[in-house]
Amino acid sequence: MSIRKIVADLHAELVRYNLVVWTAGNVSGRVPGEDLFVIKPSGVSYDELTPENMVVCDLDGNLVAGEHSPSSDTAAHAYVYRNMPEVGGVVHTHSTYASAWAARGEAIPCVLTAMADEFGGEIPVGPFALIGDDSIGQGIVETLKGHRSKAVLMQNHGVFSIGKDPRDAVKAAVMCEDVARTVHVARQLGQPLPIAQDDIDRLYDRYQNVYGQRSPR
Ligand SMILES: [Zn+2]
Repeated sequence: MSIRKIVADLHAELVRYNLVVWTAGNVSGRVPGEDLFVIKPSGVSYDELTPENMVVCDLDGNLVAGEHSPSSDTAAHAYVYRNMPEVGGVVHTHSTYASAWAARGEAIPCVLTAMADEFGGEIPVGPFALIGDDSIGQGIVETLKGHRSKAVLMQNHGVFSIGKDPRDAVKAAVMCEDVARTVHVARQLGQPLPIAQDDIDRLYDRYQNVYGQRSPR
């Protein structure tokens, strides 16, 4: 399957899992073997996305092919691909529960085994950053480099997730919203119980190895 089709089709998962409203969320994927990535066109609704109207950019975020302009988040995606060569897919959403944690600037603590499996610990908060230059991309990379988590809550903004390929990054975005919601609900009636670091390490190691979903880092 072409990378254009993979990226176009994955946007349906953002809709299916209620991670997006209107056009505010996007998926991108690195073109295998090239310094290029495919990303959603700006302002096109999810049900109109096709492999043909996807946009191709170079790693500086310049348009290489496409009739539409690329997503307004393209600079952030490009910065991640430039600085994290192991990353093959990037996703951005304003999913509700995760963005509520981001609005408070609060990391999601690792209090569920599913979080230990997928994220290897807390889901961290990245800095407040305005769109328009590299500051969002820098914030993502500074937070996720050397961190097990494949998702970052950009303060006052939303989620960026990364993966070895676009599907892996979409999965991280879906799981991030799921645990953000569950931990939020748990907080309503008390203080969630922590998981010992040893156990987090064991869960993460087992999940990443037994299921063959190795961390991209
Ligand atoms: Zn955004």
